[in-house]
Amino acid sequence: MAEDLVNSYRTGPDEAGRFGTFGGRFVSETLMPLILELERQYVIARDDAGFWAEMDDLWTHYVGRPSPLYHAERLTAHFGGASIYMKRDELNHTGAHKINNVLGQIILARRMGKTRIIAETGAGQHGVATATVCAKFGLKCIVYMGAHDVERQAPNVFRMRLLGAEVVPVISGRGTLKDAMNDALRDWVTNVRDTFYCIGTVAGPHPYPAMVRDFQSVIGRETRAQMLAREGRLPDTLVAAIGGGSNAMGLFHPFLDDAGVRIIGVEAGGRGVDSRMQHCASLTGGRPGVLHGNRTYLLQDDEGQILEGYSISAGLDYPGVGPEHAWLHETGRAQYVAITDAEALEAFRLCCALEGIIPALEPAHALAHVAKIAPGLPRDHLIVMNMCGRGDKDIFTVARHLGIEVRA
Ligand SMILES: *Cc1c(COP(=O)(O)O)cnc(C)c1O
Repeated sequence: MAEDLVNSYRTGPDEAGRFGTFGGRFVSETLMPLILELERQYVIARDDAGFWAEMDDLWTHYVGRPSPLYHAERLTAHFGGASIYMKRDELNHTGAHKINNVLGQIILARRMGKTRIIAETGAGQHGVATATVCAKFGLKCIVYMGAHDVERQAPNVFRMRLLGAEVVPVISGRGTLKDAMNDALRDWVTNVRDTFYCIGTVAGPHPYPAMVRDFQSVIGRETRAQMLAREGRLPDTLVAAIGGGSNAMGLFHPFLDDAGVRIIGVEAGGRGVDSRMQHCASLTGGRPGVLHGNRTYLLQDDEGQILEGYSISAGLDYPGVGPEHAWLHETGRAQYVAITDAEALEAFRLCCALEGIIPALEPAHALAHVAKIAPGLPRDHLIVMNMCGRGDKDIFTVARHLGIEVRA
């Protein structure tokens, strides 16, 4: 067990939920008992084989796991260097990795006897995954979504409503994801008895970053076994896109103690990290502060006001990043880079044309970094990138950027 290793990168967080100086639980006194009870219940579930058996069954029969590890031969030939594999989490039910985590939290909520599920959503992907699993289990579902996002993401709002969820437009603050998360936290403290807050990424107060990571780690565990079966060894480099950081943490975590595996997180560089906040690169362009109950890297101005980031990819525009990534960044175990909108669009196009896979704009950022490093690496160098979502949701955005008019 990782727990027994000295100098392991996989033992965190500590009892206070800290990864080095990051993470923790910076919450009001009213929220503290809820957080502590959640942690207690999660630890019981995590150590219960029955809990994981229920997860495995649903992962297999409802989500469609394991997702394939696919050798992208034409992209490999095109770049002319390292051998490129894709972990195909875009093939999951609902089209992305989010459902891996939602299933875990909802099964936990059911064990805790909760009947009302609340969630926050930005682009709407986590809201759709939560509404989906709530429909499956007959649970009441309320999704907080910034009013601005409700307007921008009409198809996902309609999906959530079809699935029986109530979508609450948030008008506080600037009406975006950060404000939706604040409202969800407020709802939780006022509806303590029957409500479970299902967070969509490795952020929020402890135990969320660790719990969400544990649920998403199925990605990395499968990748490890699949690569060993296919190539007889571990990959050399892992690459994943970072919004809050959950798909990346899920791929990275099972490999953190394998010193020979290089780990790279790709943030949204928008119009360039040098541009005045026209990006969402919290690690490469932000600095530490406290938001949503944890200490991490944030996009903020000189006075510490949280700034709204910008990215062509709505799923990457969270102004913070999971605290475990902040720690991996500071310790140097993982490397973080930024990719611009233009680079992501070019990778999107290549992926469609050469592999017959329309990627979400988030993993298109990861592929754009692969495009930068692969040509300079030897042919026996194995890269795995996380294809964490499919691009159906993004075709209108892409069309707009290409100056083409497409109507639904
Ligand atoms: C939500 C989303 C992301 C960003 O979230 P992470 O927690 O960083 O994984 C990335 N890709 C896709 C496809 C998403 O839906």
